[in-house]
Amino acid sequence: MKTIVLKFGGTSVGSIDRIKKVTKIILNHKRKKNRVIVVSSAMSGVTNDLVKKSKLISNNFDKAEHDVLVSTGEQVACALIAGRLNHHGFSARSWMSWQIPIITDGPYSNARIDKILTKDLQKYLKSGGIPVVTGFQGINNHSRLTTLGRGGSDASAIMIAKFFKADECIVYTDVDGIYTTDPRLHKKAKKIKQIEYDEMLEMASLGSNVMQPTSVQDAKLNNIDISVKSSFISKPGTLITKSFKKKEFSNQIITGISSTKNDAKITIAGVKDKPGVAALIFEPLSKNLINVDMVVQNISLDGKETDLTFTIKSEDVKKTEKIIKGNKKISYRRLSFDKNLAKISIIGVGMITAPGITYRMFKALASKKINIMVISTSEIKISVLVSAIHVKKAIAVLHKEFKLD
Ligand code: ADP
Ligand code: ASP
Ligand code: MG
Repeated sequence: MKTIVLKFGGTSVGSIDRIKKVTKIILNHKRKKNRVIVVSSAMSGVTNDLVKKSKLISNNFDKAEHDVLVSTGEQVACALIAGRLNHHGFSARSWMSWQIPIITDGPYSNARIDKILTKDLQKYLKSGGIPVVTGFQGINNHSRLTTLGRGGSDASAIMIAKFFKADECIVYTDVDGIYTTDPRLHKKAKKIKQIEYDEMLEMASLGSNVMQPTSVQDAKLNNIDISVKSSFISKPGTLITKSFKKKEFSNQIITGISSTKNDAKITIAGVKDKPGVAALIFEPLSKNLINVDMVVQNISLDGKETDLTFTIKSEDVKKTEKIIKGNKKISYRRLSFDKNLAKISIIGVGMITAPGITYRMFKALASKKINIMVISTSEIKISVLVSAIHVKKAIAVLHKEFKLD
């Protein structure tokens, strides 16, 4: 008998009608004599709404209460799914994270699953029941509710697959797999049959939010294959798995293109060019949980002063400006901010061995008169910062250049 984890995202359970449809998918797996564990996210829009409410109550909402609040959406969805399974005559019940329990580590809003005690749920599975587990949440060592970061139900599913030694983990969503780029941004995006963890991790971290980055990291660390499928149409999806030899597209160097929006660029011109200055600038930003992404420091022409440029999310601009202006430990000549920017990244393990990829990327963007503001690279990706108005055009030209159309 196989154990299968089925995870449903927000749009998949976004209405009563959708919940009725997903219970049919669950029952198809159950009728094949599998042990089925269901993991559900909140109905679409619910978590956003709860986050908004917390901000209306206080701009300094208690972090622990925040997690109690935003994790409630999952409880509703799970009870509705279990209720519908019962309606069809199947034994099913909802399981909140604390009832299992799912134990997490790390800060509120961004905790990670450390362990799952399987005994009670295992007993329930053996009795033939279908457990419907709330994604996105856990409890910490003080028995307080925690959440796993936005999109965190993916991580719940993967860690449940790990602790219950599942034979399969299927993530059902509103697209029928991982595409070469977000199909909502580029119509010619193509479905990828199989993608390796490292590429998926880069794509997810660089803006392809179809999978939560932490969940891909968990899958990689624990060697768990993930099938990504649509809950709307029955079609083969994408397998996220360990490194493999690419036969079908042996000449394909780039696997996917990701983009982020709402990026902002900060330039601090004329800072002292001496050891420790960058640390003095970034220390208070990190203490205030401002996520600094790309960083560039110009080579100092006179050895005395230099310019430092870095990117953050647009919503952090005001806070960052205040912190830098209030930082008495640094001096500079000018501070400038540039909002409405976007980061476009090309990703592919093939680039490790193929020369000239950077040049091709820059040339393709230049052919559409897209100005590059900041560049950053790693072994398997190249990212550029451009104006947000160019996102679609940049994706289209790069998709064509790297033969993904
Ligand atoms: P769920 O609610 O099921 O967790 P998400 O909204 O988190 O779903 O993720 C699905 C969305 O991810 C899709 O609707 C799609 O627009 C977006 N997406 C971004 N990049 C990609 C990509 N490369 N392939 C597929 N979908 C992508
Ligand atoms: N409901 C949560 C969110 O919207 C978790 C998830 O969707 O995976 O972020
Ligand atoms: Mg998601």
